[in-house]
Amino acid sequence: MREKSLKTATKIVSLGRDKKYSKGVINPPVFRASTIVFDSLEEMRFAARNKHNGEMFYGRRGTPTHFGFQAAIAELEGGAGTALYPSGAAAIAGSLMAFLKSGDHLLMVDSAYEPTRDLCDKVLKGYGIETTYYDPLIGKDIAALIRPNTKVLFLESPGSITMEVQDVPTLARIAHEHGLIVMLDNTWASPINSRPFEMGVDISIQAATKYIVGHSDVMMGTATASEQYWDQLREHSYLLGQTTSADDAYLAARGLRTLGVRMAQHEKNALAVANWLQSRPEVDHLRHPAFPSCPGHEFFKRDFSASNGLFSFVLKEGTAEAMTAFVEGMHHFKMGFSWGGYESLILWVSGIQNIRSATRWDASKPLIRVHIGLEDPEDLIADLEAGFARYHEAMAGK
Ligand SMILES: *Cc1c(COP(=O)(O)O)cnc(C)c1O
Repeated sequence: MREKSLKTATKIVSLGRDKKYSKGVINPPVFRASTIVFDSLEEMRFAARNKHNGEMFYGRRGTPTHFGFQAAIAELEGGAGTALYPSGAAAIAGSLMAFLKSGDHLLMVDSAYEPTRDLCDKVLKGYGIETTYYDPLIGKDIAALIRPNTKVLFLESPGSITMEVQDVPTLARIAHEHGLIVMLDNTWASPINSRPFEMGVDISIQAATKYIVGHSDVMMGTATASEQYWDQLREHSYLLGQTTSADDAYLAARGLRTLGVRMAQHEKNALAVANWLQSRPEVDHLRHPAFPSCPGHEFFKRDFSASNGLFSFVLKEGTAEAMTAFVEGMHHFKMGFSWGGYESLILWVSGIQNIRSATRWDASKPLIRVHIGLEDPEDLIADLEAGFARYHEAMAGK
């Protein structure tokens, strides 16, 4: 049966476990390798010819541990091939730098992950690449920002922290009319909750660190390209020496096998917590893509098959003391960066106005981002309820 016709849950279990990768064991084992030795010149030449086709050639080109995982991600995302990077940030940098050169212009979404923004302002700028930030909800008006030297349109949907969902098909269509390459940071959807290539994306990027790995113990990034851009992306990442350890690739592949069930439970738990938050008088609005109060909610409904555990909510007010009291002293929600593991996390994010330039952010209303883990949502709600009690005490100046 052709793999394309299979349901996602079946693909998650079966992809990348071909015998040529797994040698017959269930999980493709860890091949630690730098040198690969050959018995004849013919064998060496065969490996060279097939180095992009599952044959081991040299460690930096990968091993069956990597190849199986790469094949699975490429198929789930719907692209021609997947390059692995040592972090999500490296996958973003690697994708941009593979296609941009001095004198080029980049259109970057204003709600991008902060290090992506810093990469543009602090690194790409120094290489003579100019960035214009655009409103994530700009839609067809993106056309007015495209210049003769614009090369890449970069999307992140939903955006980091503020969660605006973008109209990806419309943006991609207009970008293609002008010959641009469309890149998407697709981490929130993971490889199973959207179809980036069907929406016109040319390169789809995952911080595999998040839901794919799923256990907060590996840093990894993936960039999956369409047929048209795959060779250039792969060769650029190779020439920049981007590799991941076989151990990390093994853990990422192992995480992938339970992605579907974990995501379904994260979604269910997060919806329970979000519904409770929505009923709280302190909450101004939810920034959860599955709720109408989230900007771009209509695109979530159209383009995503599910949500997950990551969302934000905005309070009507809150002093620094009250916000501190709220987030400190939680039992189950831990304060820390990243997300996508089995545990719940909480962040009070201040200063958002400083990382937006094409849009305005009302800094008077505090924003909290949560990642809802696999704990029982009743315990998480009790934790938040106690947090609101501490918040009120602090607001009353006690
Ligand atoms: C975490 C994250 C990244 C970066 O991934 P790392 O593996 O931490 O480098 C990129 N994009 C988004 C949306 C993220 O949440």
